[in-house]
Amino acid sequence: MSRFLREKYMDMEPYTPGEQPQMKDLVKLNTNENPYPPSPKVINAILEGNTGDLLRYPDPEAKELVEAVAEYYGVPEKCVAVGNGSDEILAFVYMAFGEKVYFPSISYGFYPVFAETFMCDFKAIPLDEGLAIRPDDYIGLDGTIILANPNAPTGMTLTPGEIEDIIKTNADHLVVIDEAYADFGTQTSVPLTQIYDNVLVVQTLSKSRSLAGMRIGIAIGSEEVIEDINKMKFSFNPYNLDRLAIKAGAAAIRDDEYFQETRAKVMETREWFSEKMRDLGFTVLPSKSNFVFCRSDKISGQEYFDELRKRAVVVRHWEKDPIRDYVRITIGRDEDMERLIEVTEEILCEKAK
Ligand code: PMP
Repeated sequence: MSRFLREKYMDMEPYTPGEQPQMKDLVKLNTNENPYPPSPKVINAILEGNTGDLLRYPDPEAKELVEAVAEYYGVPEKCVAVGNGSDEILAFVYMAFGEKVYFPSISYGFYPVFAETFMCDFKAIPLDEGLAIRPDDYIGLDGTIILANPNAPTGMTLTPGEIEDIIKTNADHLVVIDEAYADFGTQTSVPLTQIYDNVLVVQTLSKSRSLAGMRIGIAIGSEEVIEDINKMKFSFNPYNLDRLAIKAGAAAIRDDEYFQETRAKVMETREWFSEKMRDLGFTVLPSKSNFVFCRSDKISGQEYFDELRKRAVVVRHWEKDPIRDYVRITIGRDEDMERLIEVTEEILCEKAK
């Protein structure tokens, strides 16, 4: 720390992203990336993008992408905002609406960090014993509510009815639904944004559209809420999406066929993989995302994580209650999951000796 850091940031704990290890024959199942490449149409859009234009700033309104999203969801363009990853959109949410914020105590690790960064008063609400969000805890609160649906790292969802109840009983506060993983089997709340003015849906192209490296997030809400999000954006980083990202994002949203194919494949792999892990004695939470959260009585979360890592299979583990027994495993290609099962059998077998 230098002598110059503002005092209020001295004790701030930054977010720790999942590692990007460089290992030989690595099976990388730790950051919920998509195992399949982006649509060929995305690659074409980038290659055909007029690189001569790179000397000019990009469109600050990212119109081409906003149009594609609006058309995809059948909402007015004024109801769509875009960000440099959904992390940036979430940052705008805290800046704009973060006077007081509520979110689950076990959820996306960035939520409390944003609260510290933007000096928001916040309350983390515990999950139930089965690690599910208790919807009743979010009825009639007095601040902005942020809920990941499905939740991370559990992969479990709230029902559309539960979400609508939370929205209805918090009519004077914004309810933000973070749908980073919703494309893997969770019903989207986007239609609710056209009925209620207090709901904002945040999504990312990092997961279901295979574009984590491009940094593209989207937000859909009422015209007024989107205006506020853009007020933050234009007060912070107006050119938040570069020219290539705008082109790539629009092409990804427009290639519905490829999207349907790849997300179906991930969901199919998740189902057989979850079953196979249950056969090995693991408790696997019912996931509607591109990862599973699981534990075994035969091995601690930390030891399982370490043993997998020794064999170049990298997953995610948090050494904290109440999730220290669990590891989060991203759904990769079938062969990645087969490899994980093979080494898990080996690890359990060695432990039983
Ligand atoms: N929300 C949740 C729940 C996430 O897990 C992530 C990814 N780590 C994000 C938002 C941010 O994704 P990105 O910035 O890549 O769009």
